[in-house]
Amino acid sequence: MTTQEKLESIFAAVVQRNPGEAEFHQAVREVLDSVGPALEKHPEYADAKIIERICEPERQIIFRVPWEDDRGEVHINRGFRVEFNSALGPYKGGLRFHPSVYLGIVKFLGFEQLFKNALTGMPIGGGKGGSDFDPRGRSDREVMRFCQSFMTELYRHIGEYTDVPAGDIGVGAREIGYLFGQYKRITNRYESGVLTGKGLAYGGAQVRREATGYGAVFFAQEMLRVTGDDLDGKRVVVSGSGNVATYAIEKVHQLGGTVVACSDSSGFIHDDKGIDVEVLKEVKQVRRERIAAYVQHRPHASFTAGQSVWQVPCHVALPSATQNELDATDAATLAAGGCLLVVEGANMPATPRAIRVFAETGVRFGPGKAANAGGVAASALEMQQNASRDSWTFAYSEQRLRDIMRDIHDRCYATADEYGMPGNYAAGANIDGFRSVAEAMLAHGLI
Ligand code: GLU
Repeated sequence: MTTQEKLESIFAAVVQRNPGEAEFHQAVREVLDSVGPALEKHPEYADAKIIERICEPERQIIFRVPWEDDRGEVHINRGFRVEFNSALGPYKGGLRFHPSVYLGIVKFLGFEQLFKNALTGMPIGGGKGGSDFDPRGRSDREVMRFCQSFMTELYRHIGEYTDVPAGDIGVGAREIGYLFGQYKRITNRYESGVLTGKGLAYGGAQVRREATGYGAVFFAQEMLRVTGDDLDGKRVVVSGSGNVATYAIEKVHQLGGTVVACSDSSGFIHDDKGIDVEVLKEVKQVRRERIAAYVQHRPHASFTAGQSVWQVPCHVALPSATQNELDATDAATLAAGGCLLVVEGANMPATPRAIRVFAETGVRFGPGKAANAGGVAASALEMQQNASRDSWTFAYSEQRLRDIMRDIHDRCYATADEYGMPGNYAAGANIDGFRSVAEAMLAHGLI
């Protein structure tokens, strides 16, 4: 069997064993499409069935989460934690609370996470979790009761040396606070390192909140640097308006670019003078309103309901909302509008066909598992500070993040070169992440 045929049969087995999990299939396909050359160079990986083992999570936990709303009505949600791979360290990855969450989403995210975490060069394995709970429109007390019920089951599976969850879509500082409080109460342990993304008041780390967005922009800056370019004067479009998008916008502006549009699931706003990030924070973080409210504060800006933000021309696009939000049509529109660079702030926002369009039209592409690794890297820095009962300054933490993002960029770039695919960051990221995990798995024997 050729390597290609072997990979095809592994993929067919993954699809058969995990029926109906389209996003997981997509994430596996994307990695398997790149790792052929690494397998040819390292026949020992195939002999030890490393790929087959990587595609099967070490452990998958699914549980009932009952809770009561403010009117006393009982609700039942489903909770998940998929502990994907612990070759490089304790399972590490966020929790997503969103109605679209099911096992296939958690597995795609966990699979991406293990390679992403490997790319950071830090001692963290890969995992992911969440629930189909929808926090939108829920009161603080409802969210608290949900988080307490969720943790009442999750606590037995996690720990500083076992599995360390953090946030993702729908899970921010408020939720992490409630989850931490309940963990502490049940276990009678003040175990700071069991969760990351904690508030600064109780063991959180500087720059963790900003890290995914800032990191994606640092990655874009590095991609521009290798062509002798920078962000100064660039028009940028960011999709989303959550944690990743907000801090990406903030950093682009600090580095001299202008973000002219961003979005939420209801539509997008266009502000040619540059999105006012303080207004955006007030609307989205403080008031938890829809993005249309932004134009009440900035009357020269416009809101367009129900349409794709990618119709706004830009030099740099930062998809930072959710999976499969940017399709082949959007990709072609971006290319026609003069887009130079697409850097993924979210997990798997560009569809496979969109990525093909970028390659055909010469738009350079920074894949999420490299470009958005700043969040989890800052989580690993938070774990480091918790373990040593230390806390670093904002400036020092940001410098560490910047260095890590440069290192991830350089690894992807160099690996793509080494394997004869110069400029192919997706292949570089997949091969480099895969190699690190494979080497550790080989060393641990057949487990
Ligand atoms: N959910 C984030 C990600 O996709 C952060 C995970 C973490 O900090 O553990 O990487």
